[in-house]
Amino acid sequence: MIGVTENLALIKDLLASSAIEAGREPGAVQLLAVSKKQPLSKILAAAAAGQRDFGENFVQEGLQKIDQTRDMNLTWHFIGHLQNNKTRVVAENFDWVHTIDKLKTATRLSEQRPKILGPLNVCLQVNIDNEAGKSGIAVDGLAELAASCAELPNLRLRGLMCLPAVRANFDEQRKPFNRLCELSNALRADGIDTDTLSMGMSGDYRAAIIEGATIVRIGTALFGERLQVTE
Ligand SMILES: *Cc1c(COP(=O)(O)O)cnc(C)c1O
Repeated sequence: MIGVTENLALIKDLLASSAIEAGREPGAVQLLAVSKKQPLSKILAAAAAGQRDFGENFVQEGLQKIDQTRDMNLTWHFIGHLQNNKTRVVAENFDWVHTIDKLKTATRLSEQRPKILGPLNVCLQVNIDNEAGKSGIAVDGLAELAASCAELPNLRLRGLMCLPAVRANFDEQRKPFNRLCELSNALRADGIDTDTLSMGMSGDYRAAIIEGATIVRIGTALFGERLQVTE
């Protein structure tokens, strides 16, 4: 799978150069390889080239891939919408969840997380453009949700995540990411210190890095077009 190996090297170079452009360390941005609706062969190719972090949106598909790569010591991030009836398998199998937007979901994950695995890393998803019908906590509910989640014993609140509406150009792309960074700073001023901004995808990761992304979630630019939805 030459394509994936080459794309991975190219993207890593671009992440480093964008970080430098932003006055940050070249290794400041972590690549989360979004493997949803991609075949196992491409995950294996990326892993063989050194990629460790993978993101999945669909529980069943993710579990299957986790099972198929058990011995490889990969880190799995759940980045899809999480229904309450699926929290247990996620708590038992994933290392991160990026899409917490309700205390109920967070509480269940904390209760269901096996102690032996250590705390589950979580990010709060913010509905940064206040879009109707979109997942994510509203900006004005964020401080309260963050304070509650920070208290849950088997979760580790790592930071914030967003999935902005598509923008036409680079300057516009920066705005929601800048806002998420400001929200993170405001939480810090309230005593909730986190280390993660999960923002930026194939089409806007440069703008996200300029605004402080620590994790970019990249799918198609790395793996190519996705297969049809099966779930
Ligand atoms: C699918 C997905 C991505 C990756 O999107 P690409 O445009 O393929 O890079 C990132 N984040 C989330 C939450 C996604 O659902």
